[in-house]
Amino acid sequence: MSGDVELKLRGPGAYDLARKALEAMEANSVWPTPTNYELWTYVVAAPDSPLAREITRLISVGEAFTDNLADELAATFLPKARLNEQIRDAGDALNKELLAVSRAIETAQKSNEAYSQTLAGASKSLSPEQSASDLKAVVETLSTATRRVQRENRSLEKRLADSTAEVAKLRAHLEQVRRDATTDGLTNLANRKAFDEELERACAEADAAGASLTLAVIDIDFFKNFNDTWGHQTGDQVIRYVASVIGRVGAPPRFAARYGGEEFAVIFPGEDAEAAAAVLEEIRDEVASRMLKRRSTNDDLGAITVSAGLAQRRTGEAGMAVMERADRALYVSKRSGRNRVTNAEAMANAA
Ligand code: GH3
Ligand code: MG
Ligand code: MG
Repeated sequence: MSGDVELKLRGPGAYDLARKALEAMEANSVWPTPTNYELWTYVVAAPDSPLAREITRLISVGEAFTDNLADELAATFLPKARLNEQIRDAGDALNKELLAVSRAIETAQKSNEAYSQTLAGASKSLSPEQSASDLKAVVETLSTATRRVQRENRSLEKRLADSTAEVAKLRAHLEQVRRDATTDGLTNLANRKAFDEELERACAEADAAGASLTLAVIDIDFFKNFNDTWGHQTGDQVIRYVASVIGRVGAPPRFAARYGGEEFAVIFPGEDAEAAAAVLEEIRDEVASRMLKRRSTNDDLGAITVSAGLAQRRTGEAGMAVMERADRALYVSKRSGRNRVTNAEAMANAA
């Protein structure tokens, strides 16, 4: 029936019908509101329809054609209009719902776990009996939720990037702290703590690889005299100088450390006593042949010398035991005139 009226309002007599509807409304003192107009088109286009008959009856009994009456008539006789209204209302409600959901997601769903819950909820409400509009609502809810999660993810990404930068800063800071904790401040060589750790690690590695390992101890000769003559500060500069010579040959995989005041230690991974002795001779010779000058006064300080002891690790031998043998070899160097390198093995053979 309503389809017939729709058809007539799109047919040849459409404007005539529209004019007649307006004339009838005016004649009965009915405001030309959209709802009233829709109702009164039935009166003129479909006079035999239940709606037209009801309107005619109401007018004949002198009923005032109020908005409430119009709404009642529309709700009763215009199911399509009613449906449209419901769809509009549903749309508004959906928009409100989407807004609420989007707000709920914004405020409550701060994680992808929450998003997973939304997906689970949506999948439950998807069933074959659902109407198209309900399905549409579900789809729109999902798309809003997804966009929200994408936004969340983007802000999360930014937060993560910020965090990553912070972590990188923290890591650099921690790395600096670690370096400070394992580095000798005067010479920049590793300190004794770092040396002890590295020695243990290097011994384990030598065992695993079945490789040789040699340790050396280097000590500045008559350094107390030097300090007494030139002062502690100049003494420090000499320690730095000796450290720089040792550091040049003590580069990785070798490991050089300031082991004590004017004492140094070097790990020679994979090297036997002979190879290490050659390197130590190089160090000894370079230090002994250098005429030192005090920078501030240009005073000639003369040359200093170093003594060294070395020991090649025996299979399975503890790092500290090797150090002790290297120390005894150093003592032999000192006793036998200083400015020399003593191999613990050769010493043992000589004994
Ligand atoms: P030797 O040839 O037997 O090694 O004689 P030495 O005088 O070098 O040995 P000793 O152990 O008797 O003295 C070591 C001296 O090294 C004591 C101290 O004056 C000096 N010394 C130790 N640490 C430092 C330091 O950090 N700075 C300076 N300037 N001197 C130091
Ligand atoms: Mg000394
Ligand atoms: Mg000493």
